[in-house]
Amino acid sequence: MKKRTLYTLSIAVLLLYTFCTTENRSGLQFTEQGRSVPEYSSDNAYQYIVNQVNLGPRVPNTDAHREAIQLYNRHFREFAGNNAVFVQSFKTEVYGDSLSLYNLIASFGTEHSDRILLAEHWDSRPRGEEDPSNPDAPIPGADDGASGVAMLMEFAKIFSENELPIGVDIILFDGEDYGMPSDLDNYFLGSRYWGNNPPVPGYSPRFGILLDMVGGVNAIFPKEGYSMQFAPNLVNEIWSIAEEFEYDNLFIDERGGRISDDHIVVEQLTGIPMINIIHHRLDESGNVNFPPYWHTQEDNLDIIDEDVMQAVGDVLLELIYNRIPS
Ligand SMILES: [Zn+2]
Repeated sequence: MKKRTLYTLSIAVLLLYTFCTTENRSGLQFTEQGRSVPEYSSDNAYQYIVNQVNLGPRVPNTDAHREAIQLYNRHFREFAGNNAVFVQSFKTEVYGDSLSLYNLIASFGTEHSDRILLAEHWDSRPRGEEDPSNPDAPIPGADDGASGVAMLMEFAKIFSENELPIGVDIILFDGEDYGMPSDLDNYFLGSRYWGNNPPVPGYSPRFGILLDMVGGVNAIFPKEGYSMQFAPNLVNEIWSIAEEFEYDNLFIDERGGRISDDHIVVEQLTGIPMINIIHHRLDESGNVNFPPYWHTQEDNLDIIDEDVMQAVGDVLLELIYNRIPS
């Protein structure tokens, strides 16, 4: 009994401590800064999706996967410079196969020691088990993977042309979507490797934002559960910018589900408070529903909606250029 009380007490103290440090973290305070904000081009972003989807599904150990990492490497080197892009390659054994995987890290505003992190996974799922007629074929991943990466590719161009008020690191994680359903140990391969093998030890940006499925038709982005736990101020700031910009039909002011994704792995392994902007809905029973094309062959260019990408791009540029105090 005593033991249990002590245990409960120490958990309470730990929670309180976590709560205080999270809430008081100065990196998660935001105010308008009166700085000018560059324009986001969803036309460019759309073309970057096309370029990825045209390679075919970016499934580990395929030609499309190898060509895609070369495409990203060229693109980010063009805009960040050769010295600011690093490809972290590693091998891992999954389901009897040795996978060659690659995380790509591109740094912008390298003169700033004060930094933020933006990320998305770039791999495509090797099977689309939600597809009634073709469950074993790899998926095109136009929204699931390519849309977020395309947004980051457009950010790279913008960051190279418009001086940043803070340093920004873009990370493309590999191997997010490899696991069989519910086999979470074999998801998030890239973010887990990066978190366990940090290229820059002690790396501690103010926060991270994951952009998973940010270009699909009829998108809505409720406030994802873990994000609200890790960095509620950041979530609320982004959603309030969206409301000011009249994008509150997309960034709905509702609590979403708790979704296992790269942001949890990053938070757990590094302590970086990271949120996830992800298209999903909660049904009446509180279950998470992803869009109907999710993990099917329908996740192709037909379901991409440029207006959704424009909204997410506008909101994030406002955050990055105009809401983060120096
Ligand atoms: Zn997926």
